[in-house]
Amino acid sequence: MSDAIVMQNVWKAYPNGVMALNGIDLSVKQGEFVYIVGPSGAGKSTFIKMIFRELKPTRGKIFINNKNIASLRERQVPYLRRKIGIVFQDFRLLPKLTVYENVAFALEVIEEHPRQIKKRVMDVLDLVGLKHKLRSFPNQLSGGEQQRVSIARSIVNRPPVLIADEPTGNLDPETSWQIMDVFKRINDQGTTIIMATHNRDIVNKVRHRVLGLEGGMIVRDQQEGDYGYED
Ligand code: ADP
Repeated sequence: MSDAIVMQNVWKAYPNGVMALNGIDLSVKQGEFVYIVGPSGAGKSTFIKMIFRELKPTRGKIFINNKNIASLRERQVPYLRRKIGIVFQDFRLLPKLTVYENVAFALEVIEEHPRQIKKRVMDVLDLVGLKHKLRSFPNQLSGGEQQRVSIARSIVNRPPVLIADEPTGNLDPETSWQIMDVFKRINDQGTTIIMATHNRDIVNKVRHRVLGLEGGMIVRDQQEGDYGYED
């Protein structure tokens, strides 16, 4: 299997001098599902922001599909973002657009053919189980439904990699399991998933590779690992 993400000796210092990542070496194969766990302040968000070039490393290389994104020019960043779907804890939907429009928006900006757009949007809404809500607005949906729309939006371009930063952080346990079902379907289609989480139950029950971060370093890398912390 080819590598989806490779990090080589990645360091990140914030302008105030805080070292958030201290020499990360890592490779993730296409199709893997990886949890990122660790205490607050461990560097999880910084790590995730590096992958979609929200932040540049101070030192080191980051390859996404064999391209070093640390040295990417600013005007190439939008092309990278099409290869990476992103899901946040707080959904970040556009409140004035319907479910359909929120998902279609990501395709319209890359000038897909209208018929293609419709088919693709309906396919992903079907995948997340929300075809029947396509005319609803975000404020008419539950938190779990909003997160499913946000996931549909993140994968509508068929990115090879999906990043999720605490995707169940605002959801109750029952709804969180529904989100994990959706992620399973997406991962089964071959999409690499990187998920930062504090959700012990999920990590312990739905076993995948676990990367433990502490003090900006990878302190654990375990296939089918458990959550491990007592927080
Ligand atoms: P986590 O997501 O695991 O809670 P973060 O990546 O947010 O960890 O933070 C890692 C370290 O970097 C912490 O010490 C945090 O205080 C620091 N940090 C995060 N963002 C900034 C920033 N914008 N400026 C300075 N320090 C930051």
